Amino acid sequence: MTDLPGRRLLLVHAHPDDESINNGATMAKYAAEGALVTLVTCTRGEEGEVIPPALAHLAADRDDTLGAFRAGELAAAMKELGVTDHRFLGGAGRYRDSGMMGAPQNDHPGCFWRAEVDEAAAALVEVIREVRPQVLVTYDPNGGYGHPDHIQAHRVAMRAVELAAEKAFRKDLGEPYEIAKVYWNCVPRSAVEEGFARLRAAGKELFPGIASVDDVPGVVPDEEVTAAIPTAAYAAAKAAAMRAHATQIAVDGPFFALSNDLGQPLFADEYYRLVRGEPGVAEGREADLFAGVSGVSGPSGAGA
Ligand SMILES: [Zn+2]
Repeated sequence: MTDLPGRRLLLVHAHPDDESINNGATMAKYAAEGALVTLVTCTRGEEGEVIPPALAHLAADRDDTLGAFRAGELAAAMKELGVTDHRFLGGAGRYRDSGMMGAPQNDHPGCFWRAEVDEAAAALVEVIREVRPQVLVTYDPNGGYGHPDHIQAHRVAMRAVELAAEKAFRKDLGEPYEIAKVYWNCVPRSAVEEGFARLRAAGKELFPGIASVDDVPGVVPDEEVTAAIPTAAYAAAKAAAMRAHATQIAVDGPFFALSNDLGQPLFADEYYRLVRGEPGVAEGREADLFAGVSGVSGPSGAGA
């Protein structure tokens, strides 16, 4: 394909809102720089808890219409980030939110946790072979914090990376394609601790309670972080995208809370761990997810 932008980033997430919380500033930055940013969300988040009382009727145990509503929130969030290519894995509603680990929803026949990994991966292979991303971002093997849909998103994404490159696999899904770099989301412990110190200093009255470092998904020792993307200029876009997920997130300045009402810091800079492919710097952290990818270095994304 010749009409694709030079730099192409694919993110694989479990539910609407995960992309904005984890990668919102990164997505806004690369979209603003002209890269193709593609988001694949694996479920519509049907089992989420609803924060605004006026919308409580959407919840799975009442009207069960939260999935369609959250798809609308996701579309609004992508407008804030300038991202135009966002899709649901296998189409909207193909896989249902599995609920928290151990919940009865884990046994729902249509839930993502019960999906065949190879079958779900095939749906992602089709996207990979279409948009041919140099960089893929997803969760670590624990899904950042153990949610079944996040673990499954990790498994499906990593399997799809392999299958997309296999010449013999499903030729009907497009030409084989090898992704140059795969990153897992993470946050360095020092940044999390510093964020909570800011939150405590800002006053406990902002939220009914304050979360702890261990409530933050993907916290790793600082030395495991291989890329720190300078995205502070896109912090406002990230906060706006998070605000668009109003059923799930309450944003207050540089802080936010989920339905548990526990405040936590909103990170302006975003961090990653390279797990596949070659780092673009000899030492220290990369500042660009595309660093070292042949032909696409530099913010313009143009290249030989
Ligand atoms: Zn999630």
